[in-house]
Amino acid sequence: MLGKMMHNPLTISSLIEHAGRYHGETTVTSVETSGEVVHSSWGEVEANARKLAAALERLGVAQGDRCGTIAWNNQRHLEIYFGVAGAGMICHTINPRLKPEQLIYIINHAEDQVLFIDATFVTAVGQLKEHFKTVKHVVLMGPRDEAAAEAVPGILFYDELIAAEGDAYSWPELDENMPSSLCYTSGTTGNPKGVQYTHRTTVLHSLGGNQPDGLAISARDTVMAVVPMFHVNAWGVPYIAAGVGAKLVLPGPNLDGESLVKLIDGEQVTLALGVPTIWMGLLQALEKTGSKAESLTRTVVGGSALPTVMIPAFRDKYGVELIHAWGMTETSPLGTLNHLLQKHHDLSDTEKGAIREGQGRPPYGVELRIVDESGHVLANDGETQGELQIRGHWIIDTYFGQDKSALTMDGWFDTGDVATIDGDGYMIIRDRSKDIIKSGGEWISTVELEDIAMSHPQVAQAAAIAAQHPKWDERPVVIAIKSDADLTEADLLAHYEGRVASWQIPDKVVFVTELPLGGTGKVLKNKLRESFGSILIES
Ligand code: ADP
Repeated sequence: MLGKMMHNPLTISSLIEHAGRYHGETTVTSVETSGEVVHSSWGEVEANARKLAAALERLGVAQGDRCGTIAWNNQRHLEIYFGVAGAGMICHTINPRLKPEQLIYIINHAEDQVLFIDATFVTAVGQLKEHFKTVKHVVLMGPRDEAAAEAVPGILFYDELIAAEGDAYSWPELDENMPSSLCYTSGTTGNPKGVQYTHRTTVLHSLGGNQPDGLAISARDTVMAVVPMFHVNAWGVPYIAAGVGAKLVLPGPNLDGESLVKLIDGEQVTLALGVPTIWMGLLQALEKTGSKAESLTRTVVGGSALPTVMIPAFRDKYGVELIHAWGMTETSPLGTLNHLLQKHHDLSDTEKGAIREGQGRPPYGVELRIVDESGHVLANDGETQGELQIRGHWIIDTYFGQDKSALTMDGWFDTGDVATIDGDGYMIIRDRSKDIIKSGGEWISTVELEDIAMSHPQVAQAAAIAAQHPKWDERPVVIAIKSDADLTEADLLAHYEGRVASWQIPDKVVFVTELPLGGTGKVLKNKLRESFGSILIES
């Protein structure tokens, strides 16, 4: 027998309706592509999102149709998130840093009907448009612009579409299991794969990921999403901020440290989220400008491993707490967040810092386990390493456009990461299974080697890779960028002594001036392996 309580579908429109109704006057700050800082409100975002939904219906876009975006974090992008999904269409965020052939592949694979673009991308889209097989309308996210009209014949203008609509549109009732948004993985191996989120998974992710031991964003916060809106829905922040009515800051195209310091101080940001490279840039800019980032209380760091030196750097000088989080496109993305437990209360700052270096614990809604190569579940003892698997309310089942489930026989998703989990559920990523170094049958973590390199004061950035070796199969090689020209290979190798077992000390250090970065700011280890993977057999 079923219970007798209301069944209100968990829809994305319910989030923006809440923001409009109960937090209508709360500010949304947006940096436009021109660099102008614009202040709006949740009330205005909600009204514009409804106008956009009405305009899309007028253009003949139907429920279930995909609408692509190639855009920075800004107010119009936010309105598209809610307007498109609220109307029952699917918001497909595209990473603008992809190579042209990948953009074409993704847009055609998703069968996007509409493409919303920021001014930055007009020229590129003008050149590629003939390859987009399904796109019926390209919309410039801004006012009428004659140069854009020339570059992309037939282009529509977002501000004109909105201005033509009244206030009458109301959100349709949708099934919570309908798809709402679509993101592709970065495709470092093979073609990118699409992950299609539903209204229900998005709302549950917002609720589950925002508990007090999660992101803990509230109506008293000013939250800055530095993580791009094309990188797994900005980790869910736009939905969470709407659901709780937080002031939201969308930083536009310039994510260098000094631009961010200006926004943090100008908007009194309390919480910011982004990948580690962003926070390295911020630290340098704080030093340079002398700002103390007074308003900032915490930052959430994820997407790749947090360099351990960053925890004390932010804590001691700026009083900012670093919250390390782990996730993937396939997990919406929040899988773990690192907060302490009651029993850690009396530990020293250093001991607390050591716990917080790991990726943390799953919030309610997801479960983790580690398994060996034949799928046997391994012990959660903090030492045994295994393939990390996940299941839960906002985890992928099947990739977009595929029939075959992506899960194991018993319903778990294999993350491709190698991890340990301790008795309290704290998970530490030791490596990605395709990156880990297998030296004479033993594993060496590239994450650990990189962290040690980056703790050297004369190193700006470092990546460790497996290089082929005639005797040991693979041996570690570190590729590093110096921050001080005097640093030698011998200095850096000496820095490993006593920090790892002697057989784990890298065989070689190569100094470079640049590391290859992927679209979401992560080091492309496959590129490094191509360049340096044979270095030990060549010499
Ligand atoms: P892609 O796999 O396409 O690079 P994702 O953004 O989905 O794109 O990346 C997910 C992967 O990023 C994870 O499987 C993991 O390897 C890595 N990752 C994410 N967060 C962290 C973290 N906090 N520490 C270490 N690795 C992380």
